[in-house]
Amino acid sequence: MSGIYIHIPFCKSKCFYCDFFSVIKSEGREGFAGLLMEEIKLRSNYLVNKQIDTIYFGGGTPTLLHPALLGSIITRLKEIFDVNSDAEITLEANPDDLSPEVLSNYLKTGFNRISIGTQSFFDEHLKLMNRRHDADRAIESVRMAWEAGFRNISLDLIYGIPGMTAEEWEQNLKVAAGLPACHISAYHLTIEPGTRFGRLKKAGLFSEIPDDESVGQYQKLLEILSDNGFEQYEISNFARNQQYSRHNTKYWTGEPYLGLGPSAHSFDGTDRHWNPASLSKYTADIRENKLPKGELINQNMHRNEYVMTRLRTAAGIRKDGFQSAFGEAAWLNLLDMAGEPIRKGYLVYENERLSFDTAAWFRSDGILSDLFEIG
Ligand code: SF4
Repeated sequence: MSGIYIHIPFCKSKCFYCDFFSVIKSEGREGFAGLLMEEIKLRSNYLVNKQIDTIYFGGGTPTLLHPALLGSIITRLKEIFDVNSDAEITLEANPDDLSPEVLSNYLKTGFNRISIGTQSFFDEHLKLMNRRHDADRAIESVRMAWEAGFRNISLDLIYGIPGMTAEEWEQNLKVAAGLPACHISAYHLTIEPGTRFGRLKKAGLFSEIPDDESVGQYQKLLEILSDNGFEQYEISNFARNQQYSRHNTKYWTGEPYLGLGPSAHSFDGTDRHWNPASLSKYTADIRENKLPKGELINQNMHRNEYVMTRLRTAAGIRKDGFQSAFGEAAWLNLLDMAGEPIRKGYLVYENERLSFDTAAWFRSDGILSDLFEIG
C-alpha cells in the first residue's frame, strides 16, 4: 500500500520552535489549490499500479484553506490515483481554525482522521511558543471534533518546554488522556537553527532544559499514557485500541509515498524526490512542468534508513525481513554491531527481533549512530 502527502505551506503566524516550510503572507493562498491540481497531473505516473490507502494534508496549516478547496483536491486525487474506498484521510488542524460547522464540512469532504496541534493546555506555554490558540481553545477543539463526528482524533503535545514544571507536564498528560482522542504524538522541544528559539539560543537568551528533567518528563509520558490505555508504538507516538497513524507508519516501514506541495518529499521504493522549499520556486517549477529533483538510494543508504526507521517503532527489526532485504551476512553484522547496546540493556533481542528498550528510546540517537554502516 502507498500514501500521498500534501503540504499546505501557509500559516497565520510562525511558532517560535517551528522549522517546517511555511509562509505567513496570504498571497498565493487563493491560487494554491490550482497549482496542486497541476502537480497532481504532472506526477500522475508516480505510484503507478499501486493502491493508495492513506492521504495526509499537513503543513503549514491546511485548515487555512476552505474545506471545499481541500475536498476538490481529494476528488482530483481519487480521479488520478487508485485510492481505496476505506483510505485513511487525515487533516492536520490548528485549534484556532475549528468550529462545529467547519469540522462538519471537513467530514463531508471526506476527511476521517484529524490531527490537532494542541501542544499544551497551559496559556503560558502556548504564548512562549507563539501558538495562536489558548488552553481553553485546545481542549474545546478536541471536544468539538468528537461532537462533529470525528472518531479518529490525534492530538500533539510538546514537552521539554523551558519553564514547564513536572506538575504542569503531568497535568497536560492527564488532560490529554481525558479527551476523546485515540492517538497522541508527543515530541520533546528541539531548538533548531533558523527558528526564533534558535536565534535566541545563539544570543544566549534561551536554552534547552537540563537533561535529567527531559528524561523525567519522558518517563512521565510513558507512565501516564500507559496507565490510560495508550500503547507506545513509535518513539513519539501512542495509540489506543490500535488506532495507529496508518500514514506515518509508511515512513517507518519503507512503504512508497508521493509528496505534493513545496518542500514535500516522495519515495517510490528505490528513489527519493523532493520539491523546493520555496513557494516561488515551486510555482515556477509547476508552471514549467518540471519534475522534482531526486536521488537514488544505494544499498548502504537503504540499509541504514531501514535500521533507523524500524528501530523508531516498537515492532523493531525482524530477522526474516532484514535478511530478505539485505542478506544473512548483513544480519549477522547488524547483530554484531548491536552486541554492546544489547549488553547495556539499551536494545533487546528476543524472538528473532531487535528493538529498543522503551526507557532507552529517549537516547536513541547516539545508540543508532553506532549501528550505521559507513559506505
Ligand atoms: S502552525 Fe504548525 S507549521 Fe505553522 S508555524 Fe506553527 S508549528 Fe509551524
